[in-house]
Amino acid sequence: MEKIILPTQPGTPSDVEDIKQESNYLRGTLEKTMQNPLSSGIPEADNRLMKFHGSYLQDDRDLRNERQRQKLEPAYQFMVRVRTPGGTATPEQWLVMDEMGDKYGNGSLKLTTRQAFQVHGILKWNVKKYMQEIHEVLLDCIAACGDVNRNVMCNVNPNQSDFHQEVYEWSAKLSEHLLPKTRAYHELWLDGEKVFDGQQTEEVEPIYGALYLPRKFKIGIAIPPSNDVDVFSQDIGLIAVIENNELIGFNVAVGGGMGMTHGDTATYPQLGRLIGFIYKEQLLETAEKILTIQRDYGNRSVRKNARFKYTIDARGLEWFKDELAKRLSFTLEKSRPYLFTRTGDEYGWIQGEDGNWHHTLFIQNGRIKDEDDYLLKTGLREIAKVHTGLFRLTPNQNLLIADVTPAKKEQIDQLLKHYAITDGAQYSALRRNAIACVSLPTCGLAMAEAERYLPSLITKIDEILAEHNLSQTEIGIRMSGCPNGCSRAAMGEIGFIGKGPGKYNLYLGGDFTGQRLNKLYKENIDEAEILATLQPLLAHYAKERQKDEHFGDFVIRQGYVEAVTDGQHFHH
Ligand code: SF4
Repeated sequence: MEKIILPTQPGTPSDVEDIKQESNYLRGTLEKTMQNPLSSGIPEADNRLMKFHGSYLQDDRDLRNERQRQKLEPAYQFMVRVRTPGGTATPEQWLVMDEMGDKYGNGSLKLTTRQAFQVHGILKWNVKKYMQEIHEVLLDCIAACGDVNRNVMCNVNPNQSDFHQEVYEWSAKLSEHLLPKTRAYHELWLDGEKVFDGQQTEEVEPIYGALYLPRKFKIGIAIPPSNDVDVFSQDIGLIAVIENNELIGFNVAVGGGMGMTHGDTATYPQLGRLIGFIYKEQLLETAEKILTIQRDYGNRSVRKNARFKYTIDARGLEWFKDELAKRLSFTLEKSRPYLFTRTGDEYGWIQGEDGNWHHTLFIQNGRIKDEDDYLLKTGLREIAKVHTGLFRLTPNQNLLIADVTPAKKEQIDQLLKHYAITDGAQYSALRRNAIACVSLPTCGLAMAEAERYLPSLITKIDEILAEHNLSQTEIGIRMSGCPNGCSRAAMGEIGFIGKGPGKYNLYLGGDFTGQRLNKLYKENIDEAEILATLQPLLAHYAKERQKDEHFGDFVIRQGYVEAVTDGQHFHH
């Protein structure tokens, strides 16, 4: 096995690189600090490593000022994210996750924009118990966060046809193939036997090496015509190519990414760019070799310029293609034609080719909890008790009850009815196509509300839509509490990125099929200004849109914003 030697880079490696280097393959002092009874937190160096184990330290920001006043340490708590490639969970796994939310978390579950479970509000002393209990049903948190390949996303209708199932299986194989190989997770959380990994980099982590990647890395697989995974927002975006009802291979796009920093023109969202077609048997090799280019050439001194998109942009796409060609044992073919017609989810029941049924539910912002008048969490628990198929977490924070046999359908339907669990039909199409990130109170980077605020903003925009007969017109709206972009707000037809408490930048002109970035339209505006801005735009759209023209396309045609064309990015 070849030893991994990273090319020398200009600049001093960031402190996170030192932390990784000294961590002995992600162990650090975590064992000790997680047991330290004197603080409910852990030191920053260990928190950096914790991310590779799918978790990190947060504090309840609603309580921050009051606790500071009382001279108390922040109300520390952990978020723990579970890795579920393709968003798949068995009913048994669902029931355990449901229990984790109540037993150790804040009573709710969050379905993320990358098809994973998150539980927030876990106290330090409970993190290990949580990891052990989910292990009982074969779930883990390995590489759910951190500078590694994250949860691999894929289209959510696994058994609608054989190729949907096959694409799901490839997403699971990719996730396994690119998992860190260190035994640190098993030792720390599952009381696995201690292995001294020493410093033989190439043996412990044959793909990553001791320093792992410069930054997080994301992969998603779309099956046209659905672009539900937002394939161009991924570091590696794969577009399934189906011929004669069979999966042949994938078109490959590289270097997409959503994050940026307000006011820093060296950072920007970027779309993935197509580099060619591969046959399905070439997928693992291709993904691995692309990832090793980022490992070797990604910026390890400035973390905000460390994502793969910047590595490609700094050296050029042609350089990247040449470098990949040197590493691959085969040559990429020309990309095959494809057509996307939408992002988002399609709700309600559909029947798969094998006769089983799949039902997509509307979950507002992916939050599973019980409220006085809506017992969503309880209802889903009751469904999980009788369901014999799977649950699928969608890339838009919704939930599919998958693989319902015709014999079971009526029972599931009755439970859905009993708990009034909605497929979103009574809501506006805007609400059905909305995504908000977690943001406050748990996210340490949040500058403004998102999940707690977007529903009420939509209620107000709904009034404008109703006035103009647009309530059932599909418009994609996305809100992120900071420019990190967890809700992929830079691709929304209407995008909001938090600027400060109650203030947002408004972006317009993304497209409904997820193939164009949006552009800044108004800066630092509050709710009154948001509504005053959208009112005339939506009125104009209602009056002068062309047949089937989406709002994002309309605002460009009318010159409200300029189009950001394929492969370009916007400076902020
Ligand atoms: Fe937090 Fe920003 Fe991500 Fe929202 S977009 S969850 S505020 S990091």
